[in-house]
Amino acid sequence: MECRDKIMRHCSGCRFLKEYDYGRKVYYCDHEGRADDMGKVGAESLPDGCPEWCPLKNGVS
Ligand code: SF4
Repeated sequence: MECRDKIMRHCSGCRFLKEYDYGRKVYYCDHEGRADDMGKVGAESLPDGCPEWCPLKNGVS
């Protein structure tokens, strides 16, 4: 799903999502405009939507 979608925004499929495997999968947002320092969006699985601090949700492109 495209993260720019205006109605439903999910980290899954977003071009800014990065996945790392440290023995278990950890997902981070790599958007430079994110307000959250760590940018961690999930471990082992992704949330249904995206975090409150999602820069795309808050109008940052
Ligand atoms: S927080 Fe927003 S910009 Fe970052 S990966 Fe998720 S949907 Fe994409």
